[in-house]
Amino acid sequence: MANVLNSGIKLVKNVGRYNVGASSLDELSGLLTRLREQAVCDGKKSGVIFLVDQYFKADATLTDRIALQVSDVLEFIPTKDEPKTDDIDRLVASLILKGFSEPAAVVGIGGGITMDYAKAVSNLLTNGGNAAQYQGWDLVKVPGIFKIGIPTISGTGAETTRTCVMTNPATGMKLGMNSDFTVFDHVIMDPELTATVPRDQYFFTGMDAYIHCIEALEGSYRNAIGDAYSRETINLCRQVFLEDDMQTPANREKLMVASYLGGCAIATSYVGLVHPLSAGLSVVLGIHHCVANCIVMRAMADYYPAAYDEFWKMAEHQRVKVPEGVCQNLGEADFKALYEASIMHQKPLTNALGENYKSILTQDKVTDLFKKM
Ligand code: NAD
Ligand code: ZN
Repeated sequence: MANVLNSGIKLVKNVGRYNVGASSLDELSGLLTRLREQAVCDGKKSGVIFLVDQYFKADATLTDRIALQVSDVLEFIPTKDEPKTDDIDRLVASLILKGFSEPAAVVGIGGGITMDYAKAVSNLLTNGGNAAQYQGWDLVKVPGIFKIGIPTISGTGAETTRTCVMTNPATGMKLGMNSDFTVFDHVIMDPELTATVPRDQYFFTGMDAYIHCIEALEGSYRNAIGDAYSRETINLCRQVFLEDDMQTPANREKLMVASYLGGCAIATSYVGLVHPLSAGLSVVLGIHHCVANCIVMRAMADYYPAAYDEFWKMAEHQRVKVPEGVCQNLGEADFKALYEASIMHQKPLTNALGENYKSILTQDKVTDLFKKM
């Protein structure tokens, strides 16, 4: 390991409570009953906000199981684009107009996009203002509405982390509300919910957990507990992705646990070189986070040689096609934009390459890397 740097992370907040295992979604109704009763005792309404991945609009088996009441509201979250600050503001305004300024709970059911919407909505309802105001570190002043996260795809760790990733279209800044108040109060991890995820998407999102942890373990900012979480996350990912069928019930449960632990790992450490370059692809070309990470792995042979070999072995074993040639037709201005959107990620780049990362990652070098993708 190179120089160990002080991460500056002193206190770590984890998810309040969780359920894990097949059919654990059935625990939701009892939990909501308690929260509704408490709200009424506190002189508030008992309604709950459900934010559900749009995939489940056509699959009523999920919505039939969430004990929806007439006093509740259910919004389907589109996943074509990753969350933008003004999309979140519009959603909050419409929920307030519908009378949900003080719900008994906010429940997010879906992938990273939906869970990030739920975290942001919960914080904004109690803190006021707009989403862009809270992009940064510890800007959220008071706890949000009780928030429950129910992942339906595994890998990002959004169910565990203290952030909700969003892009501000006005500034191009992709940055979340990093705060202890962003952590879910309760998470339900039911691997039955991931049975319908398409193969490629399952691989791309699952690999986010693997990539977070190889970046953390190869970095200079270290934390003893974070390292342990990272090692076990990688171990579980190997079991899932080097086996023939990555989507058996047992493997879906393993990946759900890997995602959770990977989120815990990242809460105590930093990512490395893959994530800044991936953020460049997302901000400039609109490529979604998890597939963008996998595309970046095409250029990582010199930086993470062992993980590079293992990643491509897993992709080949699972016969997953990672997109190629995404920067093929770009001009000079695009490469400059890609460079700028990547180089701004100071902490992860210092973690990966040291404090002089800008002299290593010159604009020409970064352009060469993007050309390999
Ligand atoms: P996603 O929300 O992007 O969804 C990916 C696709 O899978 C969508 O088409 C969705 O509809 C579909 N899907 C989800 N569950 C399904 C199911 N059970 N069956 C069939 N289809 C299903 O998923 P993701 O990859 O988990 O999330 C990516 C997002 O997470 C990005 O916006 C990224 O910025 C964010 N993220 C957040 C954190 C954090 O700490 N908050 C960390 C990493 C990434
Ligand atoms: Zn990630």
